[in-house]
Amino acid sequence: MRQFSLMRLMGAGLLLGLSWAVTAKAEPLAKDLFGAQKLPAATAPASYGFYSKGCFAGGIAIAPDGNHWQAMRLSRNRRWGHPDLIHLLERFSRDAAADGWPGLLVGDISQPRGGPMLTGHASHQIGLDADIWFTPMPNRRLSIEEREKVSAISMIRKDSLYVDENRWTAAHANLLRRAASYPQVERILVHPGIKKKLCDTVQGDRSWLRKIRPFWGHDYHFHVRIGCPKGSVGCKSQAAVPQSEGCDKSLAWWFTEEPWRPATGPQEPKARDVMTMSALPAACRVVLAAPSPPSEAAVTLVDAADAPSYAAAAPKPLQPAADPASLLHSLQPADIPRPTPRPYR
Ligand SMILES: [Zn+2]
Repeated sequence: MRQFSLMRLMGAGLLLGLSWAVTAKAEPLAKDLFGAQKLPAATAPASYGFYSKGCFAGGIAIAPDGNHWQAMRLSRNRRWGHPDLIHLLERFSRDAAADGWPGLLVGDISQPRGGPMLTGHASHQIGLDADIWFTPMPNRRLSIEEREKVSAISMIRKDSLYVDENRWTAAHANLLRRAASYPQVERILVHPGIKKKLCDTVQGDRSWLRKIRPFWGHDYHFHVRIGCPKGSVGCKSQAAVPQSEGCDKSLAWWFTEEPWRPATGPQEPKARDVMTMSALPAACRVVLAAPSPPSEAAVTLVDAADAPSYAAAAPKPLQPAADPASLLHSLQPADIPRPTPRPYR
């Protein structure tokens, strides 16, 4: 009997241990929690953490249509960003149009409350990153279906590291120059071949080239990153770009074999596939729990009454629904690594 009880006890212990293991394993992934958000946190705007590990509150959306932009891949619900970024994109679209660019095709910005995504980007988590297609906006409104299916066009010649001279134009260079002209913009990621083209051809003021950073991918779109907004004390800045134009050895490295050599050894899991809430700033739990605005339209930036828009109503200013200071108190000391340099897909 005694032995039987012991076995029962052991069995119960085993079960307990097992259920503990199951619970521990079932800690939800941050990408699932943030990927499920339909609307932003209706609190004062603030970015928390780093571009590749964080979230944001008080986000607004760029409308699917503006006078000088069309947003793509609407089903992804990634038209959200910190208001500083969304307003900048609207201004960029106007300035670019004045420069002669037909209009912006806007790619992914962020999820409504940021955070890691179910698919795609490693960064874009704190509402300060936006992808803009190199393909100019067509002179008609694309249907919702076209926006899902139309593909951007690579600026790089197939199987090469160099710009396709049949596609690259001075207008593309001007568009990047314009994007780099805003003080808020800290860096613009482009394919190394595009950076090289600019290094080889830009005349006159070349100081903006320092913001143009070579990176894997980024031949179909460029990636605009703004710095931490004023007042976002929980936002971790990225190291400043060097003062030089970056047309030197650092660029030449991209034209060696090394950056393109396939990685060896066992493949490490993607950060988003293991990241739980504990890896993010504590404020991100508050962001997840915060109330939503009354509607998407209430927090969507539209630029003009005559622009066709899927948004039902004009935007109203977003009222802070909670004391932003309470969010700041919950911030953990920043422990944020640099983004992994390798491509994520
Ligand atoms: Zn991007």
